[in-house]
Amino acid sequence: MSQRHNYVDGEWTDAESGERTAVYNPADTDELVNEYPASSVTDAERAVAAADAASEAWASTPAPERGSILREAASVLDDRREELTELLVREEGKTRPEAAGEVGRAVDIFYYYGEKAADLGGGLKSAGGSNRRIEIRKEPQGVAALITPWNYPIAIPAWKLAPALATGNAAVLKPAEIAPGVAGELLAALDEAGIPDGVANVVYGSGSEIGPAIIGHDDVDVVSFTGSAEVGHMVYEQAVEDVKRAQAEMGGKNPAVVSATADLETAIDEVAGGAFGVTGQACTATSRAIVHEDVHDEFLDRIVARAESLEVGDGLAGADVGPHVSADELETTLNYVEVGQNEGATLETGGKRLEDGDYAGGYFVSPAVFSGVESGMRIAQEEIFGPVLAVIEVSDFEEAVEVANDSQYGLSASVFSEDHSEIETFLDEIESGVAKVNEKTTGLELHVPFGGMKRSSTNTYREQGDAALDFYTKTKTVYRNY
Ligand code: NAP
Ligand code: MG
Repeated sequence: MSQRHNYVDGEWTDAESGERTAVYNPADTDELVNEYPASSVTDAERAVAAADAASEAWASTPAPERGSILREAASVLDDRREELTELLVREEGKTRPEAAGEVGRAVDIFYYYGEKAADLGGGLKSAGGSNRRIEIRKEPQGVAALITPWNYPIAIPAWKLAPALATGNAAVLKPAEIAPGVAGELLAALDEAGIPDGVANVVYGSGSEIGPAIIGHDDVDVVSFTGSAEVGHMVYEQAVEDVKRAQAEMGGKNPAVVSATADLETAIDEVAGGAFGVTGQACTATSRAIVHEDVHDEFLDRIVARAESLEVGDGLAGADVGPHVSADELETTLNYVEVGQNEGATLETGGKRLEDGDYAGGYFVSPAVFSGVESGMRIAQEEIFGPVLAVIEVSDFEEAVEVANDSQYGLSASVFSEDHSEIETFLDEIESGVAKVNEKTTGLELHVPFGGMKRSSTNTYREQGDAALDFYTKTKTVYRNY
């Protein structure tokens, strides 16, 4: 395992102040996992300066060469899957299979953009005059500031860093203070793969302290943020005020519509997976099940039984559902469980803190299902970020789609139906960046555009796939007359 330090200009360094922030295992808070630099604005500025100094040479490095460094880093990560998976579980609390899946995703992303770099496009356009050629060039933006959340602590840094580097940008990554270690491992892999000094940097520390200094730095050209809507809109405004290209991908309140024609077995599997998987701590987690009255009672019985069958516990000990990542997140979930009851919804199961025996010292909560939820209730409107499912009963499909759209968010949405006209209506009308038929709201392949609508996203650029290549490059239109 590599150094738990900032990685700036090719060196592993402490914060200038020497201060560090401790990370404890959310499944057992007696276990100190690691400590990371509590960086200051000066540290952040050093990282931006290093990136800026390295950016020109990296931009003019042949793209296939950049790609081969990414692929080499992918292979370093590939060899460390086991270690990275354990570190991820111990810092963030996912179950082992969930963490292994996420680490695998990061490896795949590095291979994918490593390949892409060998094949970056531009193009020719027809010209409105003879003896003229018009060429469309794609050039790197310069320095990319990447600010990431704790909930996918390696996949999200990977899906920003890899396309930024592949397209010839230098980058400064500021991971979330919670669970930051696996993001640093991406830099360790790049270092081993021979990335030139300064091209990729990581600065650990508090987002509210160093974030604005990074985003607002004159030498930063492009800002990519993933996290909460509250912070994301602020980050976006700051970047746009400086006329920087920016994208912010934020929260969700993702619906699953279950029609009267649905295959209930599939619906139960997928809604449970979407709602309780990764402890409900996914931006794309299913948090509202909007169920037709004809199947409502059976759906409710079965989803409650499923929630109760899940074993909550330490992700390394084989549990189905890991802990919340932090005391704050646990508190927020427990608070919403209370809010829902006060609003008049019925708590069918779960929503209790587990603290006896092996649960002592961990942030565990039992998966919760609410019935009798109305769309205007806070538990149907606000992102909860825990294993809490709100079941809303509707009397026809049209109402189901209306309720699904009755949200400030629009990240991911599912429909469970065997009726073509229902499915097409849903796909036409749903206000959501991702729409799925007979599949959970979570999970998206790495080569397809990812992002939300409404308050889930600034809707500027999508992430992943070719969309990311677009975001990290600027277009130059060249006229040649001869
Ligand atoms: P967050 O609190 O918004 O933090 C995200 C990042 O922003 C962290 O690195 C944070 O640093 C930093 N930050 C905080 N204040 C800042 C400021 N004033 N300026 C610049 N940066 C600042 O989000 P989170 O709690 O880590 O993550 C959970 C949220 O992310 C949920 O809402 C979830 O839906 C969303 N999410 C969205 C997607 C998506 O693709 N749409 C994917 C995953 C998660 P600190 O760690 O120091 O606070
Ligand atoms: Mg936060």
